[in-house]
Amino acid sequence: MSFKSLGLSEPLLQAIQKKGYETPSPIQAKAIPSVLEGKDVLASAQTGTGKTAGFTLPMLHLLSQGAEQRHRPIRALILTPTRELAAQVFANVKEYSEFLNIRSTVIFGGVNQKPQVNKLRQGVDVLVATPGRLIDLENQGLLSLNKVEIFVLDEADRMLDMGFLRDIERVMKLIPKKRQNLMFSATFSKDIKKLAYSILNNPVQVEATPENTAVEVIKQKVYRVAKGKKTGLIIKLIAEGDWKQVLVFTRTKHGANKLCKKMISSGITAAAIHGNKSQGARTKALAGFKNNSIRVLVATDIAARGLDIPLLPHVINFELPNIAEDYVHRIGRTGRAGAEGEAMSLVSADETLYLKGIEKLIGEKINVEIIEGFEPDPNASTEPIKPGQNRNQGRRRSSNTKSSNNSRNSNSDRNKSRSRNKNSSNRR
Ligand code: AMP
Repeated sequence: MSFKSLGLSEPLLQAIQKKGYETPSPIQAKAIPSVLEGKDVLASAQTGTGKTAGFTLPMLHLLSQGAEQRHRPIRALILTPTRELAAQVFANVKEYSEFLNIRSTVIFGGVNQKPQVNKLRQGVDVLVATPGRLIDLENQGLLSLNKVEIFVLDEADRMLDMGFLRDIERVMKLIPKKRQNLMFSATFSKDIKKLAYSILNNPVQVEATPENTAVEVIKQKVYRVAKGKKTGLIIKLIAEGDWKQVLVFTRTKHGANKLCKKMISSGITAAAIHGNKSQGARTKALAGFKNNSIRVLVATDIAARGLDIPLLPHVINFELPNIAEDYVHRIGRTGRAGAEGEAMSLVSADETLYLKGIEKLIGEKINVEIIEGFEPDPNASTEPIKPGQNRNQGRRRSSNTKSSNNSRNSNSDRNKSRSRNKNSSNRR
């Protein structure tokens, strides 16, 4: 199968060649023809599957076939949950449209709106946006969505996790009823299905990889360890393994900051990335991680979602997520594009139930290792981590935030934490 046989136009094929893609990924092979036919698409795909090109390429094809409009109204709207994902999708749109007469821009909160508004004033065909800033600028009369022909909802499940349902509903009222809709989600809960039903019109359903196939190329390991010895163990593993690019997941923003400080005081370059960090700090941390000046990036689930860091060799779960699907997302950051990766989890007694849930989801037992000097505490309770701990930490930290956008994010983190705790207690 080639990109050409999918029916994409020559300027797009040129851009694809420049990117070095040889064959379409499974989600691209499945989604592109349906999008080109003008159908609504509901796709089950997560980051790393090539989903962005899966909707961007045919979207650009369709837009470039349309009659040129002098004032360039926004004809395609791509909604993403996080700023990082918005920036990445926009970078992709730019690259794929290099040889087309298509203008695009991106808007998200946490930064000055003026440069974004100036771009919008010049006229754009494709707008990539996070919900908050989009609605904000629309309310100010600085953009209009009444000429949107194609609407893309990316990472719909994370949108709902972050409490964006109301915002999505508001956006739906601002765009024309007659339009093509593309919706992407890694998971399909009842709420996602409900949302899909309300947005999509007789959609073609495509699936990239079942939830857990990505796991197969990833070496997984669990270190059973006493809770209080986790920091020492992670520093030992990174230092002795001489690992250069390590993504570490923590459950809370507070935990991410604390661990980051400890790493730095042990001589390991590290940065934390989470909802309370300013956009500038997040961009800087990510850039440092990509260019290898920062060895360890400590992230919460929300912040890490959608980050495109190809060929990541090591992912460490400092704490297990309480939602088993998140484990698959987290470790999906390694072993991309067929490269082998290693995913390690530091598991204390109170995470035993989470580990069981994960093993059930992926259908296998993960190898367990115990490192001398970092043994698990035989007297520790296996009672899961108290839900209240997360919430209090989130509340305390959010009181320090200044911009409304930051507080929106910390609220979202809290909402998410709340819904997760609810979910996990349902599961128990
Ligand atoms: P995504 O799932 O959209 O975040 O894409 C994940 C990564 O795969 C990105 O770095 C893309 O540039 C890359 N990619 C997308 N499509 C292809 C393809 N057909 N062949 C090789 N790499 C690709």
